[in-house]
Amino acid sequence: MNQNEDKARMILQLRQAGITDATILNAMESVPRELFVPEQLLASAYADGALPIGHGQTISQPLIVAHMVEALEVNEQSKVLEIGTGSGYHAAVLAGLCRRVYSVERVRDLRLQAEQRFKQLKIHNVITKVADGTKGWPEQAPFDGISVTAASAEVPPALLDQLGPNGVLLAPVGPEDQQMLVRMRRTEEGFSREELAHVRFVPLRQGLARDSEMTR
Ligand code: SAH
Repeated sequence: MNQNEDKARMILQLRQAGITDATILNAMESVPRELFVPEQLLASAYADGALPIGHGQTISQPLIVAHMVEALEVNEQSKVLEIGTGSGYHAAVLAGLCRRVYSVERVRDLRLQAEQRFKQLKIHNVITKVADGTKGWPEQAPFDGISVTAASAEVPPALLDQLGPNGVLLAPVGPEDQQMLVRMRRTEEGFSREELAHVRFVPLRQGLARDSEMTR
């Protein structure tokens, strides 16, 4: 197993799939995905798919992460909110592209593991908390971008409220088995809405994780 080769292949696949922005490709290249997957799945770290990370959750597929960071239209000035820290991978990629990333996770243990990874990688511009992400992070609003990485029937209204002028929100919207990745943008008149792609994410759940969910 050669992780550098695997990573080079992943970057090539991203290019072939239409990700051409060098800033984004560099950001993806600089994050060691192998640190974000469970040890027994190391060999698949760079395969283009979602992988289980425990607690019934998954680390997103590289191509989806790349499409989402591209669609979020962020730059080094941007202040971004992520809902669903999970492994921390998507936040780590965003950290290389934005000024600051706020990320909310409802499962305590996942947040803890993600924090350890950020520390190990000396990523200092990601701030996390355990909370119900459907409420956003009002104390830190407004955000230039909001990236929701868990699926819901509707975009949580509290998140739209926390978008700044011209801010962009991405969210998988639809039933549990398949969703549409929706991009909402705050305009002078209200919000614009675009449908970008079919995606499949784990559900966005209300409230904090209970102990019964912690062991899965
Ligand atoms: N972005 C992650 C993948 C996220 S999977 C990565 O790169 O690895 C979706 C995550 O959303 C899961 O970790 C799940 O626990 C979390 N989640 C689900 N509902 C939530 C909510 N209401 N608030 C915060 N996090 C939530």
